[in-house]
Amino acid sequence: MSSTTTFWLDVLSKGFRHIAEEQSLPQVQELFNEYSTHNYKPLPVNLMRGDGIRVWDEKGNEYLDFIGTYSATAHGHLNPKIVNALKDQLDAIAVTSRAFYSAEVGLFCKALADYCELDMVCPMNSGAEAVETCIKLARKWAYTVKGVSTDKAEIIVFQDNFHGRTTTIVGFSTEEGYKKDFGPFTPGFIVVPFGDIEAVKAAITPNTAAILGEPIQAEGGIIIPPDGFLADLRKICTDSNVLLIWDEVQTGFCRTGKRFAWQYEDAKPDLLAVGKALGGGLLPVSAAVGTREVMEVFHPGDHGSTFGGNPLGAAVAITALAVMETEDYAGQSERMGSYMMAKLRELPYEQIIEVRGRGLLIGFEVDDSLDTKSLSANLTKNGILTKETRNKTFRLTPPLTITEDIVNDAIARIDRAFKATLG
Ligand SMILES: *Cc1c(COP(=O)(O)O)cnc(C)c1O
Repeated sequence: MSSTTTFWLDVLSKGFRHIAEEQSLPQVQELFNEYSTHNYKPLPVNLMRGDGIRVWDEKGNEYLDFIGTYSATAHGHLNPKIVNALKDQLDAIAVTSRAFYSAEVGLFCKALADYCELDMVCPMNSGAEAVETCIKLARKWAYTVKGVSTDKAEIIVFQDNFHGRTTTIVGFSTEEGYKKDFGPFTPGFIVVPFGDIEAVKAAITPNTAAILGEPIQAEGGIIIPPDGFLADLRKICTDSNVLLIWDEVQTGFCRTGKRFAWQYEDAKPDLLAVGKALGGGLLPVSAAVGTREVMEVFHPGDHGSTFGGNPLGAAVAITALAVMETEDYAGQSERMGSYMMAKLRELPYEQIIEVRGRGLLIGFEVDDSLDTKSLSANLTKNGILTKETRNKTFRLTPPLTITEDIVNDAIARIDRAFKATLG
């Protein structure tokens, strides 16, 4: 029998998890170097187990997960209630397809629409797909409802945006590294500075279908727009018959201390892209959510996804929503976020230029004198997992289940990491 066949048989008899647990960090790094495209540069940690905010590597070293899978593990790793819902669903059916009805998917769409204070849902898998779905809906709405001439629809987007990695989406990114060598790009996007309401007004034409933005730019470095900007955008959209699309893939589901970050102002969207935490930290579940007027432009055949809207994802997502609501994740995020930001501001390091955020979407920006690679390594050594976003800003997006004791522990570790970095 060939060694490959032995491997397949081992996978089935030993169970894959046991094979994975036998790998050392250098072995895993070798696998990634050889067989996985090099589109990420991971920190040298091989995560093997997770429970709440805590994760462990193959040697049993414990870390506090302050990336929280970029906000996707808002419920903590392996949240027992969501895991149970998943196991329960596995006694029935997992994946069907949109060729048939599924009660789970129907109930999920209703629950998510209600949660978002909107009317209808188009289920997808990844955040980028949710954004793509919003773009298609907005364009079709522009042609069939607003009356824009064929192929003339324009969508206004913002500098330093992050909406995902598809070719259309990176085409309107302003980050050179995201788009270089991936052109030619989809036309029809106009970029204006984030927070500049006059620039938005000047960019609107009779062909404008939508304004697409993040209420807080998370990947961009936790950039909060000026007060009133969200509401002003809503007003401009209403006055000009333009759709307002919020991408709350990262800011949504209580991350910023409310269900959605747009709720800090009178800025309800016509379309909303959600993902990440919607999957309860277990599965990729995303959606475009919107008003009936817009969502009804889709007819059979206009759009679809093989896995988008499946019973297993629906069971997980609806339970994720139920946990957030019944355990007051919004209030918890608000309280713990304020507490953590206050503690970070008490750290005695002049190299920290600014601590900013809302709820548990927090960034601390360091000045040029600080070696961020070294700080990053020292954070890892002290058991804090996080990475820099843009602008020398470290992002802290822990599970929303975090407690005051864990915040205190984390601040002590961050303090030690600074001491080690500054020598
Ligand atoms: C992560 C993210 C996306 C993309 O989500 P994927 O699931 O990685 O495709 C889109 N928009 C925002 C604001 C995000 O943070």
